[in-house]
Amino acid sequence: DFRSRDPLELKDIFIAVKTTRKYHRSRLELLIQTWVSQAKEQTYIFTDCEDKELRMRTGANIINTNCSAAHTRQALCCKMSVEYDKFIESQKKWFCHVDDDNYVILPSLLRLLSSYHHSQDVYLGRPSLDHPIEAAERIKSDGSVTVKFWFATGGAGFCISRGLALKMSPWASLGNFISTAEKIRLPDDCTIGYIIEALLEVALTHTHLFHSHLENLQKLPTNTALEQVTLSYGGFENRRNVVSIVGGFSLAEDPTRFKTVHCLLYQDTDWCPKLKPH
Ligand code: UDP
Ligand code: MN
Repeated sequence: DFRSRDPLELKDIFIAVKTTRKYHRSRLELLIQTWVSQAKEQTYIFTDCEDKELRMRTGANIINTNCSAAHTRQALCCKMSVEYDKFIESQKKWFCHVDDDNYVILPSLLRLLSSYHHSQDVYLGRPSLDHPIEAAERIKSDGSVTVKFWFATGGAGFCISRGLALKMSPWASLGNFISTAEKIRLPDDCTIGYIIEALLEVALTHTHLFHSHLENLQKLPTNTALEQVTLSYGGFENRRNVVSIVGGFSLAEDPTRFKTVHCLLYQDTDWCPKLKPH
């Protein structure tokens, strides 16, 4: 079978991280220090400004999309459209998108994608709702038709095989993504779902291994945390919504828990607390 003939490697996966100018220090640096450091060559950071200092200091692949830094549907769809085009250009086998508040557990991602083939039609992610979304498709100016489809929530991350990504091209490549999103007037992640489920009739493969801060992350069993594909954090303002995982860092030292997760996965990292001898 294909798994033994041609095992998937980390270098076959294109990982796109969406960020914006105001989060370079507060969010992105933590990712570059943690999981991105283990996948430097294949992680591409899509932002909306130049940050030569960060690029020089960390060696990260930072792409200035020249999209607006506003939190509007147009600006976010502009970034997704650049992510898509760069993936197609890259020749890699899988496209995975995450936000700048996600930790990607690379060994789990590799294990998950290894059970599929990149030439099949695969769209993997966590459905954002417990029912399909209904959108108005403006077929003609005089009337609209509604369509129902599932989509993977962008804030938890999702992956698409190259085979499927190539079929999305008429609606996703070279600026077409922005017109597709305008047609249904929905955000970037919904538009991805619309193209795949409604237009191409390929079903989302629902997985609960991807996590956003829309769910209660404290409820995630501690002993399964490292088997998840993505983690997130949120809600510092009111109630802290982070994964409950114990390690060498206190909540004050590691409020997101990403450093703790990273040190459990990669114990030899120079800044990780040394394990106490028994
Ligand atoms: N983001 C962006 N431009 C903005 C605001 C946010 O590209 O003007 C990105 C941000 O970096 C993150 C994603 O959009 O990757 C989601 O933003 P955030 O986590 O702040 O919001 P939420 O998860 O609540 O939607
Ligand atoms: Mn978020």
